[in-house]
Amino acid sequence: MPACPRCKRIVKTPIQTFTHLTESDRKGAVLEQNVGYYECSNCGEKFPYVYGRQKLKLISVAELEKLEKSLSDAKAENKVLKDKLDDSESGAATLSSEVAELQKTIALMGQHRLEGLRMDVDALKHEKIKLEREIARIAM
Ligand SMILES: [Zn+2]
Repeated sequence: MPACPRCKRIVKTPIQTFTHLTESDRKGAVLEQNVGYYECSNCGEKFPYVYGRQKLKLISVAELEKLEKSLSDAKAENKVLKDKLDDSESGAATLSSEVAELQKTIALMGQHRLEGLRMDVDALKHEKIKLEREIARIAM
C-alpha cells in the first residue's frame, strides 16, 4: 500500500491506473509496470506508485510455436517413459510372485519327499519285522 511522500499517510485507492511498458536492458525483454496515480486524502498530494511489475519477453510467433512443440514432445516422451516404468514395476511384481510360488512348490516337494522317505522307512521296518518273524519260524 503506498504512503503519501509528503505526510506518510497510507493511501488505499488510486484515482487512476495504467500499464507502463519499458524496454529492459536485455534484448527482447520488456518490463511491464502497473502504476497507480494516488491522491492523499490528508494533504492533497498527488503521486504515482508502482503496485505491480513483471518481466515480459518478446518472442516471435514462430519461436513460440517451436517452444510449444518441444514442450508437447517432451510431455509425450515423459508419458512413454512413465508407461515403461509402470510396465517394469508390474513386471517386477509378477516376477517376485512367481519366485514366491516357486519357493512354495520347492518347500512342498521337500515335504512330499520327506513323507515318501518316512513311508519307505516304515515299509522297511515292516519288512524287517516280517523277515525276523520268518527267521524265527524257520529256526523253530
Ligand atoms: Zn499526504
